[in-house]
Amino acid sequence: MEPHVSQNMATQKSSAKRLADKVAVITGGARGIGAAAAKLFAENGAHVVIADVLDDIGANVAESIEGRYIHCDVSKEDDVESAINLALSWKGHLDIMFSNAGIGGPEGRSITTLEMDQVRHLFSINLHGTIHGIKHAARAMIKCQRGGSIICTSSAAVILGGLALHGYTMTKAAIDGLVRSAACELGEHLIRVNCISPHGVPSEMLLSAYRRFGDVDITPQRLKEMVGTRASLLKGRGSTIEDVAQAALFLASDESGFITAHNLLVDGGHTSADSRMS
Ligand code: NAD
Repeated sequence: MEPHVSQNMATQKSSAKRLADKVAVITGGARGIGAAAAKLFAENGAHVVIADVLDDIGANVAESIEGRYIHCDVSKEDDVESAINLALSWKGHLDIMFSNAGIGGPEGRSITTLEMDQVRHLFSINLHGTIHGIKHAARAMIKCQRGGSIICTSSAAVILGGLALHGYTMTKAAIDGLVRSAACELGEHLIRVNCISPHGVPSEMLLSAYRRFGDVDITPQRLKEMVGTRASLLKGRGSTIEDVAQAALFLASDESGFITAHNLLVDGGHTSADSRMS
């Protein structure tokens, strides 16, 4: 039977639980988008390993979904390899890698004063962490011979140059390129590699960016309203962590079985908006 035929049958069988019997590792799964994805993946039948540096919060999320938690600083290759090994020793295989951990700062807004140490720090977590994730997930998936789905988190900032988050934007642009090149190689093993590009999600990362740039009284509610009125084509509708988690669920499931090397924008159309929207 051809692989795509068996995948379609699997989709029909598991339509209620879209990730039934699948094993997933989620970096940055302690809070924000990663935690929302961990809950959604588990609701859909996946066994989830959360890999993060926020140990208490991450362990609580893992416990609530009967998953596993491991301390993992994604900038350290050994930590990421250990997270993958935990999934393998727990359930014997790995099907989904959501390489989602990331930071938004610290950095200033002008290229003329960009601190290279800060840029290196951003690269070590956002880009190198993603490289570690793809590398070790691919090794495990090739060994298990079950195919797999690797999902990375890029950003609409790559398109919206006007945000002037130079270091952050560079790391996310590099992830876009890496996803395409890895997808070209790994397709042979039925491993799909895609990324998601969110925008304006009222997570702690975005709130702290607003505080850093002077809006010290920003609240999740006000941020959500601002995004809903200024950074989305969908009037009054700002993005949520669940919107991005749903996109990750789609890319993780067999329903997206013919999608690879793709960058899925979850931006409420903002990157297609004209200047009145910015
Ligand atoms: P968040 O701050 O709520 O979550 C980020 C998670 O990554 C946290 O749990 C944090 O502890 C973890 N993390 C940070 N450094 C780590 C490290 N070295 N090792 C392991 N884990 C680490 O923010 P979020 O918005 O949920 O961010 C998730 C991803 O989405 C990030 O890659 C971010 O760049 C991306 N993103 C967010 C937005 C947005 O608007 N919030 C937009 C585009 C892209």
